[in-house]
Amino acid sequence: MDDSRENYFSNTSGTNKGNGDLEPIPLDRLAFDIDGVVADIMTTFLDLARERYGRGHLRYEHITTFFLEECLDLEPWIIETLIRELIDRPHELAVEPFPHAVPVLTRLALETPLVFITARDRAAPIRTWLQRSLEQVDPEAIRVFATGDPDTKIHYLQDHGIRYFVEDRLETCHHLAAHGITPILFAQPWNRREHPFVEVRDWPELAELLFE
Ligand SMILES: [Mg+2]
Repeated sequence: MDDSRENYFSNTSGTNKGNGDLEPIPLDRLAFDIDGVVADIMTTFLDLARERYGRGHLRYEHITTFFLEECLDLEPWIIETLIRELIDRPHELAVEPFPHAVPVLTRLALETPLVFITARDRAAPIRTWLQRSLEQVDPEAIRVFATGDPDTKIHYLQDHGIRYFVEDRLETCHHLAAHGITPILFAQPWNRREHPFVEVRDWPELAELLFE
């Protein structure tokens, strides 16, 4: 883990793409990460930590890094158990989409199939969750690819001709930008560091970017 951090910091200075002047985004060249962008899994994570393990003191804002054991006062086994569950059965847990994600994606789906690329190692559970959440979208128009690794997202993006990607993990944004993809950072407490990318605070702001 320390290695990837070092890489991240050594990479930042060399990456300087994306300066906020975004041209109109071709909607059929756009794809989305799921967790932390569409699915609010960290709220569910904290709810479960509170309900099952009595950890009521944890707050969303405490999650300032992807390394949960570093920013949350929680035993590693609890973190592991809950994350595994959120990966294996999000459709059976109370996972909500972020506010306004559903209407924006539903509108987008009228123009082009929705492409989701996740670092999860299983596509089926989260595809089921997406299909249920986006109940007005044709299931055929919801395409989900699970890479199992954030660094291999780039291959899926290139294979599908994607040029813009909405992502909440800053390290992935840097990686994609280095390979010619334009990241759009979805703001979260865990990506509050300086960066050169276009950033959106929420789905209404993203909608402005897409449909202006
Ligand atoms: Mg994510």
